[in-house]
Amino acid sequence: MIKQKGILFILSGPSGVGKGTVRKALFEKETTMQYSISATTRSKRPGEQEGVDYFYRSKEAFEEMIKNNQLLEYAEYVNNYYGTPRQYVVETLDQGKDVFLEIEVQGALQVKENFPEGVFIFLSPPSLEELKNRIISRGTETETLVMNRLRAAKDEIELMDAYDYVVVNDYVEHAVDKIQAIVKSEHCRRERVASQYKKLLEVTES
Ligand code: 5GP
Repeated sequence: MIKQKGILFILSGPSGVGKGTVRKALFEKETTMQYSISATTRSKRPGEQEGVDYFYRSKEAFEEMIKNNQLLEYAEYVNNYYGTPRQYVVETLDQGKDVFLEIEVQGALQVKENFPEGVFIFLSPPSLEELKNRIISRGTETETLVMNRLRAAKDEIELMDAYDYVVVNDYVEHAVDKIQAIVKSEHCRRERVASQYKKLLEVTES
């Protein structure tokens, strides 16, 4: 049987834009994509589960994974490590299934280097002002921290250039619809469809 490789989708964007919320809403809908669960050194938040939300690891264990080249990408974010386990992504794509990553921007750039054929989606805030409101409404941050995050977010927005698509997160439902449309479109790409037919012909001719 001819099996076509799955497509790697990467959702990224500035901090506080709502990547996690959009990703969760997307996976609550019917999707054939497989979510790649990340490893992290941050502690578990209430309601989170090992192997569902993250693989929670010690700093030592995480650094061991880095050393053994077991991560497709990793980044340090707010004093913790976050990374994508390589094996799951490679094996799942080989099985012909699409894989979905939801990661911050430094990691997305690393994936771009290793998987330029991936589909990179930038989730963008409707405006920096809105981003500020969202960060403030979390209620736990000081003004300085908020300003620092905003500055960081501004820098991150400049990174939009590395992406294939920009989805504005005005309403979660709209963002999810757009991502689903992107997934469908990518499956209709001439390169992908034609290469599948060509392989089919090679088999029938031999
Ligand atoms: P949180 O601690 O709120 O779950 O996640 C913090 C940030 O880390 C979010 O922007 C999230 O997208 C990002 N993140 C989650 N997993 C990964 C990963 O495997 N790699 C990278 N680079 N970032 C990740």
